[in-house]
Amino acid sequence: DNADVVILGAGPAGLVLGNLLHASGVDCVVLERATRAQVQARSRAGFLAANTVRILDRHGLAEGLRRRGREHATCEFRTEDGRFRLDYGGLGRGERHTVYPQHELVTDLLTRYLDTGGRVRFGTEALTVRDTDGARPTVTVREADGRTGSWQGRYVAGCDGRHGAARRSLPPGAVRRHHLDHGVSWLGLLAEAPPSLDAVGYAVHHRGFAGHMARTPEVTRYYLQYERGASPDAWSEDRIWDELSLRMRAADYGPLHRGRIVHRAVVDLESDVLEPLRHGALFLAGDAASLLSPSAAKGANLAVLEAEILARALIADLGHGDPEGLARYSAQCLEHIWRAQEFSGWMVRLLHGAPGPDGEPGFHDSLRRSRLASLSSSRSCQDWFAEHYVGV
Ligand code: FAD
Repeated sequence: DNADVVILGAGPAGLVLGNLLHASGVDCVVLERATRAQVQARSRAGFLAANTVRILDRHGLAEGLRRRGREHATCEFRTEDGRFRLDYGGLGRGERHTVYPQHELVTDLLTRYLDTGGRVRFGTEALTVRDTDGARPTVTVREADGRTGSWQGRYVAGCDGRHGAARRSLPPGAVRRHHLDHGVSWLGLLAEAPPSLDAVGYAVHHRGFAGHMARTPEVTRYYLQYERGASPDAWSEDRIWDELSLRMRAADYGPLHRGRIVHRAVVDLESDVLEPLRHGALFLAGDAASLLSPSAAKGANLAVLEAEILARALIADLGHGDPEGLARYSAQCLEHIWRAQEFSGWMVRLLHGAPGPDGEPGFHDSLRRSRLASLSSSRSCQDWFAEHYVGV
């Protein structure tokens, strides 16, 4: 089988890329390991940056989020020193988030791509990408029925996440992987409960971090700092709600709306960046290119941004014989990635300290407290925060 561009993965990166290429008449195919139903049910991100909405708008892909997404521009910090709010929509560049669950965005992107005649092969797992230095790179695949096959293209776009075939196929030494383990884990929860406050809530507590993020009027995401390696099912629902209430200081600031917990996953806060994001005819985008800790909600936004940059470069190359964009792709994306990494790391350090050797609050706890004090009191710090919090 053949296509000019073989795209691995039908997440935000692969589907934005597929839509843009297909709309420009570039012959492409998306190979996706999961079924359509599984892809459309995977709830993860929810906060879209203003620039992400602009990109999707520019290509006619924002209809659903314009209709059903909700603007959001306030966050609240609760700490041992009290609480403070930042109306970030009025700070920095004055930009807002749009809250729109990732699985709804993915559903919109997929529907649009298929309705306009785009090709997707569900249940098709990429195994390896070969001959990336040759004129016809090849992707070997395993179909749902166990049969193996292959796809050839001029280019391969690795949009298949951190555990995908694109990363695995990079020969040793071809690409450098920068990796940072922040040493903290979160239990990510989705609760069938309305939001408990009209802001993103970040609670810093000596028992650990807790977070609150609206998703829809019926569903809310919570995070709890959690023991590394513990099973996501180790805690009962009551224990989870009690701990969330304690860390979010519900006794002082109002109770949480409790509800059934419908999804749990442990996320180790880790970051990595591959450099460069290209090996011959293989290009990496989204989580395949760089993994961000979820502390600043940047992953899906970067995936959309990189997909647009890659689409433009591929269209210029395949449509007009202009390889300049492809040559610049890696450097251009890495600039955005490192800025997002820097801010995400700063957020981790804003929300987490580390006890000293005696178990008492340590040096890093005091730094964290001081960081929060600057954020609560310094307008220039708030402007900087707002610009980076909503920006990609
Ligand atoms: P993915 O969405 O992972 O898609 C990759 C696709 O490739 C999948 O469909 C997968 O099935 C497929 N695939 C994998 N391997 C293969 C293979 N070998 N062959 C074929 N197909 C394959 N980001 C934000 O911006 N804001 C947030 O609020 C936010 N919250 C998050 C909360 C959690 C709990 C988590 C885990 C992540 C969050 N993120 C957030 C990050 C965001 O979800 C990811 O960065 C985003 O999904 C990356 O998109 P992607 O297209 O690169 O990869």
